Amino acid sequence: MSSAPQRPQRTSDAIPFQFAKFASFLTVDLGFTPDEESFRQEVRGWLDSNLPPEWRHGAAGGYREEEETEVQRGWQRRLYEGGWLNLGWPKVAGGRGATPVMQAIYQEEMTKAGAPGILGRLGVTLLAPTLVAHGTDWQKETYIEKILSGELIFCQGFSEPDAGSDLAGLRTRAERRDGKWVLSGQKTWSSGAHYSDKSFLLARTDPAAEPHRGIGFFLVDMKQPGVEVRRIKQMTGGGEFCEIFLSGAVVEERDLVGQPGDGWKIAMTVFGFERGGLAQAARFERAVAELAALARERGAGSDAATRQRIAQAQIEAHVFRLIGLRSLTKAQHGHAPGPEASVTKLYWSEMDKRLQEAAVGVEGMYGALAPESALAIDDGRWQYGWMWAQAETIYAGSSEIQRNIIAERVLGLPRGR
Ligand SMILES: Cc1cc2nc3c(=O)[nH]c(=O)nc-3n(C[C@H](O)[C@H](O)[C@H](O)COP(=O)(O)OP(=O)(O)OC[C@H]3O[C@@H](n4cnc5c(N)ncnc54)[C@H](O)[C@@H]3O)c2cc1C
Repeated sequence: MSSAPQRPQRTSDAIPFQFAKFASFLTVDLGFTPDEESFRQEVRGWLDSNLPPEWRHGAAGGYREEEETEVQRGWQRRLYEGGWLNLGWPKVAGGRGATPVMQAIYQEEMTKAGAPGILGRLGVTLLAPTLVAHGTDWQKETYIEKILSGELIFCQGFSEPDAGSDLAGLRTRAERRDGKWVLSGQKTWSSGAHYSDKSFLLARTDPAAEPHRGIGFFLVDMKQPGVEVRRIKQMTGGGEFCEIFLSGAVVEERDLVGQPGDGWKIAMTVFGFERGGLAQAARFERAVAELAALARERGAGSDAATRQRIAQAQIEAHVFRLIGLRSLTKAQHGHAPGPEASVTKLYWSEMDKRLQEAAVGVEGMYGALAPESALAIDDGRWQYGWMWAQAETIYAGSSEIQRNIIAERVLGLPRGR
């Protein structure tokens, strides 16, 4: 008689052992060296002279990306000319070779100063370092400088209607015809596709291969007849996410990054560059201070429940800074971010939801107004931030996916079905 396959049994010490591995990086370096502090002053000095007051914004409320497109384009140009956009790259690759701590200081100071985002964020933070790692000489020479300067704006074409968390289920096809690749399929949630010149996009090069193999990583010209972009209207009122319909879009062989089946491996490099850190900590600290000011202005400062929520937000922001310092200590010692990066992502995105909710609560009935309403407090930025925060627990790996990773790879719990 055959019996059902058994799950591997875990010994009772399995969880403490795994946890010990995670905890081994708990020795946190809390200080900065004199060189690091002088670098901080350099960043502050540059910001004082280059970031106009009208471009600075509050920590709460997210970016109203659509309104700020031209500001973000201009700001990227300034950062590029100041040599800040490839700060952490090795000197041989044209960067400043800044340590992880210096990069964190730079990002923290940008956030503290209320600097806007940059229009080519996905190209600069995700694609350019990926090309440094996997691109051909031609791809590096053709694209990297233009990505940094903002001459070429890239969007990310990974997700599909039935392939988000389960990205390996993607079905967009890439077929080789006459020495070129011809793409057909549909992408969705592509941020900024409507103003992008190109996309870095995953498509299936070999439908017969296993899901994680047979995927290619392509650089696709968005301004060609086989590409149609449709914007998706969001509850914030904006529409910076798009669907991309590909029907016979053509990609030259030289715009395939790596080999035709390397796409999954290269996509994993891209995900490695999606991180939080001290910049997020600085953002939350500012947001909590702004929330406390709002409560005082609205006369809610003596309400016990409100005080409790603000105190909780302050504690969480401080804990988040310590988590950021722990990750930084690890990076400074040359360790790549491990599965505990999921703790960071889960923590800040869930924390932001609570914080924004506390703020619209403090606004009382005004919190229910649409952000663009003439009666909305602070230009409706808290309502906007509350709506935007709902997306934060979805992109870059949803909270459920992060919890799965923490359960399996940090705590060593058995896999769910
Ligand atoms: C603001 C924002 C910007 C984005 N920008 C881009 C972009 O520029 N380019 C791009 O390609 N994509 C982008 N995305 C898409 C994003 O990557 C996906 O939304 C994300 O991967 C989730 O996929 P999905 O929406 O298909 O949800 P699904 O994967 O269908 O998930 C639906 C629900 O099921 C849960 N779930 C799924 N699998 C599991 C599981 N195994 N265990 C437990 N729960 C599970 C999820 O947590 C979620 O709650 C963006 C998304 C957002 C919100």
